[in-house]
Amino acid sequence: MGEYSHILVGVDLTEESRQVAKRACALARAYDAELSCLHVVEPLSLAYGGDIPMDLSTIQEQIQETAKTHLTEFAAGLDIPEDHQHLIFGRPESEIHALSEQIGADLIVVGSHGRQGLALLFGSTANGVLHGANCDVLAVRV
Ligand code: AMP
Repeated sequence: MGEYSHILVGVDLTEESRQVAKRACALARAYDAELSCLHVVEPLSLAYGGDIPMDLSTIQEQIQETAKTHLTEFAAGLDIPEDHQHLIFGRPESEIHALSEQIGADLIVVGSHGRQGLALLFGSTANGVLHGANCDVLAVRV
């Protein structure tokens, strides 16, 4: 197996993603690789579309702020420095692909499944990440 130099782990910030991130940390240590983590905040409008006749922007901002706090705590527990923590707004699989290319990741680590809800609508994130990735993808069984 080749060496990995930069590992990107996608975290949905659930308890299960702690397990996924720990595996990514262990791999980063084993390969002496850089480790970056990413949490993607999904647009509320994607989930609810035009079904809710109200402005969702304030709620969306609050979700983003809460996510930032959680990601900081999550990453601190794993010793991932701030400049390797990424919070991006969009669709998880697309943003994981885009960031992995931007930072030159050679391994993406995700959980085999993490949450429900949107995933049921769009198919699993792990599946989406695997298709179209430009590097190896590890789906950690959770
Ligand atoms: P899912 O298919 O959505 O149940 O999620 C499977 C895995 O995809 C999770 O364990 C994470 O590794 C990754 N993932 C899911 N949602 C996100 C997200 N919003 N941001 C970053 N990674 C995610």
